[in-house]
Amino acid sequence: MASNTETILVHEGQHFNSTAAVTAPIFQTSTYIADSDPAEYIKAATEAKHPYFYHRHGNPTNSQVAAVVAKLEKTEDALVFATGMAAISAAILAIVKSGDHIVAQLAHYSGTAIFFKEFLADYGITVTAVDQTDTAAFARAIQANTKLIYIETPSNPNLNITDLKAVGELARQRGILSMVDNTFASPINQTPRDFGIDVIVHSATKYLGGHSDLTAGIVCGSKDYITKVWKRSVALGASLAPMDSWLLLRGLKTLNLRVKQINTNALQLAEFLDQHPKIKSVSYPGLSNHPQHELAARQMKGFSGMICIEVDGQDEEQAFKNAQSLINNLNIFINAASLGGVESLIVHPASMWGGHHTKAQKEISGITMGMLRISVGIEHATDLVDDLDQALRKLG
Ligand SMILES: *Cc1c(COP(=O)(O)O)cnc(C)c1O
Repeated sequence: MASNTETILVHEGQHFNSTAAVTAPIFQTSTYIADSDPAEYIKAATEAKHPYFYHRHGNPTNSQVAAVVAKLEKTEDALVFATGMAAISAAILAIVKSGDHIVAQLAHYSGTAIFFKEFLADYGITVTAVDQTDTAAFARAIQANTKLIYIETPSNPNLNITDLKAVGELARQRGILSMVDNTFASPINQTPRDFGIDVIVHSATKYLGGHSDLTAGIVCGSKDYITKVWKRSVALGASLAPMDSWLLLRGLKTLNLRVKQINTNALQLAEFLDQHPKIKSVSYPGLSNHPQHELAARQMKGFSGMICIEVDGQDEEQAFKNAQSLINNLNIFINAASLGGVESLIVHPASMWGGHHTKAQKEISGITMGMLRISVGIEHATDLVDDLDQALRKLG
């Protein structure tokens, strides 16, 4: 099979479709007819990801999706889940047990941060969070019982960058597993295996699916590791439903086209916002004024569609009001959580996560009251710039 991204997206894993249909059918079934040979049936029941035993164990479309993403992420194997958080939690629980320690970042996707803080703590697993922009901090945080370095780059929502090569090397030298949440970049813009990272996780709800019509997650890694994750997955039970798997497979076919368009649109938008007097600051790794632009350019092929902006205001209260007015004045951008779809979205992170994060937590992860997170879609860039322009004009 070809090794170019465009072709992988359209054709990889086709052998999991055992029918004559060009497009994989939806295997909408919970169970499969047993082989009349008991030895074969025992094999189906015990083999990791067997596609024809029982849905929680595997499904042909799930295998096909996993094959596509594993190939893109340059790993031996992959496993799909019902959500990104299901993938992340199973991936982590396949590595750590009570008494173990994880080195992670101050800024993480809020669900991951809550999993570390509120869930793992109850099971005797400790986490040290470090500033991801300080590469030496990862080494300083390692303890004798550290089993995992967990990173996210670019991070949600601030778009800070973690040095993949430095973390990959550190983990290898210390015999620790390294894992990255690659959701914001997508494998089109960033392939962490190239920098020595062991495991790649995604919320496939975002760019991989790409149409805001499903939730899914995926873990990519070595065959041995994915087998361990599969065992956790069978016990935890968050398997990806057949219809969602099929939608994800269809979404993946256009991943390259979508992300390329999104990269172009986002740069244009970031440049527009960066020179706008009513915008205090813009964080976009593709802008040369991003404090880690050079690092981003070294490890990313494109800068993706996530932009973080701070709306101006003389104090927190006014900045919040202005941010909310900007959202309300927009006609094309939709005010909604999530990201990575064909449509442009905008959200106020402090409100979205207000109920989960304390004021101190928000400060630690750098979330302010005037902050807005934009997920740029595939619309015409001029229409997006014009929409922001008219909405900003209406601010006092
Ligand atoms: C959305 C998201 C997740 C969680 O994914 P779900 O599919 O919502 O469970 C994890 N990491 C990042 C960076 C995300 O944006």
